[in-house]
Amino acid sequence: MTLLPTGKRFAFSILDDTDDSTLENVEPLYAILRDHGFRTTKTAWPLDCPEGSRNFFAAETLQNKEYLRFVHELVDQGFELAFHGATLESSTRERTLEGLEFLRSEFGRYPRIFCNHGQNRENLYWGAQRFRTPALRALSRVLMREQGGSYEGDQEESRFFWGDVCRDVIQYVRNFTFERLNLLEVDPGMPYHIASSPYVKYWFSTTDAPDVDAFNRVLSRRRIDRLAAEGGVCIVSTHFGKGFVKDGRVNPHTASLLSHLADKAGWFVPVSEVLDSLLEAGRGRTLTRREILRLELRFVADRIRRRESSGI
Ligand SMILES: [Zn+2]
Repeated sequence: MTLLPTGKRFAFSILDDTDDSTLENVEPLYAILRDHGFRTTKTAWPLDCPEGSRNFFAAETLQNKEYLRFVHELVDQGFELAFHGATLESSTRERTLEGLEFLRSEFGRYPRIFCNHGQNRENLYWGAQRFRTPALRALSRVLMREQGGSYEGDQEESRFFWGDVCRDVIQYVRNFTFERLNLLEVDPGMPYHIASSPYVKYWFSTTDAPDVDAFNRVLSRRRIDRLAAEGGVCIVSTHFGKGFVKDGRVNPHTASLLSHLADKAGWFVPVSEVLDSLLEAGRGRTLTRREILRLELRFVADRIRRRESSGI
């Protein structure tokens, strides 16, 4: 089975993380995506966060009626809804399950995609645990001065545990992010399984573009043209709530890049559809230890390079 449908030369999707998203600051951008024929993936928080959130207070949840109506419209139009935890801050198992049940009752099915959020304690294999190679994990702990154990979604004895539920209902979890567009160059096995992280069925990588400036830089015309010429696969991780819309108007540079991209013969479908087709094309293997190490080292090298080039 070939990866792309007839007439499509490359695959492109977006995983829009809901941090800072409100109806006002993302709806105009989704109108552009829809009109250009893009069908992408959006995370949403199903439940409110009554304890408050210092960093993520600006976002709306699906408890807001207008926002829920907007997300329903997106799903009806073919956009995909993904899980980003139950709410803005850490959730115990009970609240995580309540959030998932809310999504199922509203949308008729569980989400198929999950990505970890911020410092939420129910995150799976997060922090230093993200590295499955013991030496890199230990090094990461030293560099991050992390004691370990603060992310507990995969730890059975924790009240934040929900790994068993993740394995049962979620098909794909986002792992490493990279600067380049064509992800198959850095992660040729994706989606992949890792034996030492059994609660995640399949992991996948994305292209990192956390806000509007990064998005416009990463998706330059030259890079879009190269992605199309290579017949690559690109899933961009971003936050549409971070600067893409000002005073009701979409950033003009973003609008022009999306229009340029739409003119190419790309396959513009939700993230899980891209990953399903990669599975059908024969991927989805359990990586060997050597393959895991190679991927982790690529991620580290990419991070160092980005840090140097951005002058941080
Ligand atoms: Zn987030």
